[in-house]
Amino acid sequence: MIVSRSILDSHKHHMQTLERAIAFVLLLCFVAITFLAPLLLLAHADHDCVGTDCHVCVETNSVKSLMKQIGRAVVHVLCAGAILLTFAILARLSVAKLYIATPYGCKVRLNN
Ligand SMILES: [Zn+2]
Repeated sequence: MIVSRSILDSHKHHMQTLERAIAFVLLLCFVAITFLAPLLLLAHADHDCVGTDCHVCVETNSVKSLMKQIGRAVVHVLCAGAILLTFAILARLSVAKLYIATPYGCKVRLNN
């Protein structure tokens, strides 16, 4: 079955648009949680607590837990990025040294 190139390009373009839309929605959720969660905590900081079954306390505790999880996730992503960057730099340096260490890299002429 022959599929024309324009259909494949169109499908690829739609997939890229969908991926960008999903990324944008995830970014909006992240920004909303980051900025609205502390406002929720501040708004309910001095509520009239009814004790152990207080719904406001349950909600604020879940928001605090969510903020901790997001904070840990951000730290993990930053650490993973730093590790990957370190490996990339080391790999590039080692490849450069290997290239130089070869007779071709050192421009050694082998006459015999
Ligand atoms: Zn309460």
